[in-house]
Amino acid sequence: MNRARVLAIFLLTLLPLVSSAAVSVHNLRQWRAPDHTRLVFDLSGPLEHRLFTLADPHRIVIDMDGAEMSGPVPELDYGGPLLAQVRVGKPEEGPLRIVLDLKREARPRTFILGPAGPYGHRLVIDLYDAKAGGSADDEAKPVAAAPAPEARAAKPKPRMLVIAIDAGHGGEDPGAMGKRYRTREKDVTLGVARELAKLIAATPGMRPVLIRDGDYYVGLRDRFRKARAQRADLFISIHADAVPGKQAYGSSVYALSEKGASDAMARFIAEKENAADLIGGVSLNDKDDVLAKVLLDLSHTKTIHDSLALGDDLLVELKRIGPVHTHKVRQAGFMVLKSPDIPSVLIETAFISNPDEEKKLRSREFQKNLAAGIFKGVKRYVARERAAELTAANREHVVRPGETLAAIARRYEVQVEALRFANNLTDREPAAGSRLQIP
Ligand SMILES: [Zn+2]
Repeated sequence: MNRARVLAIFLLTLLPLVSSAAVSVHNLRQWRAPDHTRLVFDLSGPLEHRLFTLADPHRIVIDMDGAEMSGPVPELDYGGPLLAQVRVGKPEEGPLRIVLDLKREARPRTFILGPAGPYGHRLVIDLYDAKAGGSADDEAKPVAAAPAPEARAAKPKPRMLVIAIDAGHGGEDPGAMGKRYRTREKDVTLGVARELAKLIAATPGMRPVLIRDGDYYVGLRDRFRKARAQRADLFISIHADAVPGKQAYGSSVYALSEKGASDAMARFIAEKENAADLIGGVSLNDKDDVLAKVLLDLSHTKTIHDSLALGDDLLVELKRIGPVHTHKVRQAGFMVLKSPDIPSVLIETAFISNPDEEKKLRSREFQKNLAAGIFKGVKRYVARERAAELTAANREHVVRPGETLAAIARRYEVQVEALRFANNLTDREPAAGSRLQIP
């Protein structure tokens, strides 16, 4: 039995003694993301609250009307850059007062979440470093594509292929839970994502972007916004699903559907994944009209077409690693896949609800295999896309006897790696007489 529950039971017995309107604050959790610190107060019900900031020293005060603290403030890790201490004050009359002592000025954002997943009512406070570039306000703005680092370089280099890797869930949102070992989906997805990022980082011409790289929650819309800000070429969301029962097995790949879900199972899974925001927290200023309009654009059809092609290539490789749940890419209304201009897929790597698959998903070995399979699928897709583009451009070179790749690259003023990539070549020199596509 965890402490929160003990406190909750303790409080239930006390409830007739205190005011019937009292809302109990019975736990506090902290999640640290690279750009903000999140505090989550567990509440026995919804409440009214006010927040204000004070300087000298910097602190944030939250007044909660009709609230009671049901125990001492849990021990938190104060090793982060912003939070120094959490204090609680309760005058005889008036609201419960929580004081956040800060190490430096922070900009707060706060919202109430209703019951979802493993949690009940919650008050969430996100603290952003006031001096750093990121702030609470930034999230409301549509993403202005930041110039990629290479674009600022003095000499223009061929553009890197940027692959956004989205580890599903995180922080407050554990995702699905295995029954045998209580494996949390959020840990598996991060494990696979990091392995995939390593493979991509080690490949010339490719750059990984980890949408999350730690145990914290990123809103579903913010996930694809981050990918767009990094000018990602592809977006891959990694999950490990659960359904009732222990029988379901195998991996599945999903793309966005233009209208609704393509079948009941797909709809069921999409609804579950989309509910993550109810657990992890949706920001109130999450309206993005520009993006909403772009979503209606017809160009989205092309993106979905490309997403399906990417999904096909991924399935070919995933089949080599283990069973697949369905042999076709499925389509459903996944929020996280709604980038209008980036081919995006969601991979349910296996069923965490199946005890055998749960056991595999826990192992680093299997996580590495999955990452390797996904990576091969991406390379298949990219090679095919580039070949198609090159055929369109119709630049071809017939290799002469003794001619090296380096020489051909010099002649056309392209990089050797680009040549290799475009032609799916290994480390060996191309055979005389073979035809090379020139990127
Ligand atoms: Zn998931």
